[in-house]
Amino acid sequence: MNQPNTSLTADAPWVVVKFGGTSVSTRPRWDNIASIAATHREAGKRVLIVVSALSGITDLLKGIGDGCADLPRCMELRETIVARHRMLFGELGLPRRNAIDAWMMRLEHLLADPRRGSGAFDWQAEVLAIGELSSSTLGSMYLNALGLTTHWLDSRDYLQAEALPNQSLWGRWLSASVRVRHDPEIAAELAARGDVFIAQGFIARSGDGKTAVLGRGGSDTSAAYFGAVLKAEAVEIWTDVPGMFSANPRQVPDARLLARLDYAEAQEIATTGAKVLHPRCIHPVRDARVPIRIKDTNRPQLPGTEILWNTQSTTPSIKAISSRKGITLVSMESISMWQQVGFLADVFEAFKRHGLSVDLIGSAETNVTVSLDPSENLLNTDVLARLCVDLEAFCRVKVIAPCAAITLVGRGMRAMLHRLSAVLAEFGALDVHLISQSSNNLNLTFVIDEAVVDTLIPRLHAMLIRAEVMRVDDASVFGPSWRELAEEATSIRQPPWWQRERARLLELATTATPRYVYSLDQVREQARGLLGLGMVDRWHYALKANPHPQILRCLHAEGFAFECVSWNEVLAVRAALPDLPAERILFTPNFAPREEYRAALAAGARVTLDGLHPMLEWGTDFADHDIFLRVDLGIGRGHHDKVRTGGAQSKFGVALDEVETFRSHARRHGARIVGLHAHLGSGILDAQHWRSVHVQLASLAERFNRIEVLDLGGGLGVPSRPDDVPLDLAALGEALAEVKQAYPQFQLWMEPGRYLVAEAGVLLARVTQTKRKGDVHYVGVNAGMNSLIRPALYEAWHEIVNLSRLDAPAGELVQIVGPICESGDVLGNNRRLPACREGDVILIAEAGAYGAVMASRYNLREPAGEVCL
Ligand code: PLP
Repeated sequence: MNQPNTSLTADAPWVVVKFGGTSVSTRPRWDNIASIAATHREAGKRVLIVVSALSGITDLLKGIGDGCADLPRCMELRETIVARHRMLFGELGLPRRNAIDAWMMRLEHLLADPRRGSGAFDWQAEVLAIGELSSSTLGSMYLNALGLTTHWLDSRDYLQAEALPNQSLWGRWLSASVRVRHDPEIAAELAARGDVFIAQGFIARSGDGKTAVLGRGGSDTSAAYFGAVLKAEAVEIWTDVPGMFSANPRQVPDARLLARLDYAEAQEIATTGAKVLHPRCIHPVRDARVPIRIKDTNRPQLPGTEILWNTQSTTPSIKAISSRKGITLVSMESISMWQQVGFLADVFEAFKRHGLSVDLIGSAETNVTVSLDPSENLLNTDVLARLCVDLEAFCRVKVIAPCAAITLVGRGMRAMLHRLSAVLAEFGALDVHLISQSSNNLNLTFVIDEAVVDTLIPRLHAMLIRAEVMRVDDASVFGPSWRELAEEATSIRQPPWWQRERARLLELATTATPRYVYSLDQVREQARGLLGLGMVDRWHYALKANPHPQILRCLHAEGFAFECVSWNEVLAVRAALPDLPAERILFTPNFAPREEYRAALAAGARVTLDGLHPMLEWGTDFADHDIFLRVDLGIGRGHHDKVRTGGAQSKFGVALDEVETFRSHARRHGARIVGLHAHLGSGILDAQHWRSVHVQLASLAERFNRIEVLDLGGGLGVPSRPDDVPLDLAALGEALAEVKQAYPQFQLWMEPGRYLVAEAGVLLARVTQTKRKGDVHYVGVNAGMNSLIRPALYEAWHEIVNLSRLDAPAGELVQIVGPICESGDVLGNNRRLPACREGDVILIAEAGAYGAVMASRYNLREPAGEVCL
């Protein structure tokens, strides 16, 4: 990287660029950061890079904070944290590890700190800060190694937390606020030192000189604080989506990108549902009049969303329709409240006492109804029950849940009411519990039952456009639709790893075919994507997908535990990882013989039962054991009938109407049900699926006494056909976060198989013969259904290319077939390949999951071998 040799003047403008966890977890992502920073520098700007911790690290650190009393567990988490940083260190190819080791040592000292025992909040803040301190240190070393001179800053030297009135101790240390103003002295001091800087998001200095952290959305907020202090030209939030939209694009694919918003509108959209930007980060930049730009890391050429003081758009228009689920309404009824002095003060005092922040309010002569938003409140059934008891002293109380708030956002809302008749008619047909029109004239909110929201929002969005209250023809505000952008993105999807490795694969094929080849880098990338979601307390790898020992070791190093469905799978994990603690193994068999359960219990693995029989007939085996129960939620999902594992036609899980019987037998035998599990199928690309499983398991768990864990199974799909839309990880994270906020008492576990390994594996085969029968052309290869049975068994579609002639133009349609004596031995139907010759190397992609492990010796042909890159 070439540093421009023209130096900047002292008053050169500043740009603050912020990158989240996934953006700082791999070398290609750091290269991207370097190029964005260098582009700004070349354009004559000073750059401050603000970074989050590596993906998943804050959760591990939080795990230390939450489980502080369990030192061995904390040490284990620390080991994982150290391993993750060392791995990235290795990937970045840096020479000296001292600086990063110093932070890891600091973490070790924190574990020895006497404050650990009580989990003191100031201690937790120091633990959490290690994530950002370490990632920024790694980043600064790498950027300097690339030749971009970058100065490391400690954010705590610039951001001072302030105590707020009524702030709890928790808030003071773990959700701190900073008061900022433009400080030309800081800007001048930094300008004297250099041009490019890197600092941590999320952390600040507390009043007494210790460390405090900023809470949810902390890194965005830090970037906004720095933007204000430096009076930057802009704060750029680099993320994985193209910007803010006129509706949640996962609900409304026709939602339009919002090209330009003013601060108040953006604040309103962020507060009422959009997750791209944390509402907290708008206030500091608004006061300093610093624009925020939301930019897509994967598509930097897109303009994104710009948020500024004045959009200069004069057309009154609704900019967005947003929704929040999980809203609880508290309706308070009393005939004596009318003209009664202090009634509202009394009831609101009760909310304050229970730490509940009220969002919307509707009032009548004899009724006051308020809404509680789960993202601002630690809402659970206990708190609500206690609140109701207190309120009963003044009025009759009714709790209405789950509700959803649908909000229309736009400047001058009251002036547009007359054009909303079609929208209001839609609401007229529903049970609307509350309507609120904000005093700032920016929003109109309807609270309705949650169940109808997902279908209602797309309809309302279309109506707003039709009624011309959402003026999508105004190009200064509305950009392209999500659907258009997604189509563009699919056409420019990242080329798969095997294209880069073509030469190496061709070389490998000279030694043996058919052969599966696995890219461990790709496995790691998939793993880190999942870890980056942050919401899941424990990830397991379902090794039925591919039990190759190197893959097991690789995923162990990434922090994954393991899910096994047979005793032999348990043995395979132990052979690959002899030191793995037994409790990192989850045993989830189906119709297995009794000995396997006994062996797993004796080994100390976590055992999941998925039928009544084991508990009814072998109940004594489970006496005094903690067990998980796999339930059948009554419906299956997945890419093919044969991989759907829910509903009466599927052999898995205990039907909901038998759960109570199971419980009573478990109680009788002294077995403790501490986890609930559901896995509804495989190859699912819709992120909302896990939201639904999560909600169902959580509400079921509330009927039990001691459920600690909800295991949502696996099933995360990968796109195979060109028109498949990849699973939206950000949406998955949001969906899980939403439910987790409502049920924070349960740990969340997941156990994907396919997602981690499918794209990491390819099957290499050689053309044996070609044949023509009428119009049908066959290309025969030396790998058949005995190596890869998925096309025959599930009609699975795998991309197939002629690796020897990758750049040759595609020719006629061919059937790619194997050498097995079955008509079904077809790997791909009607594919266009360049003319194939005997000996050409054919590559069958996305074959890393359920490939080699399902192979057989049918026809006494040896199946494909396996090798890891
Ligand atoms: N968990 C259970 C209980 C399963 O049965 C399966 C697959 O059959 C998985 C996890 C992994 O599924 P996938 O590979 O689709 O993620």
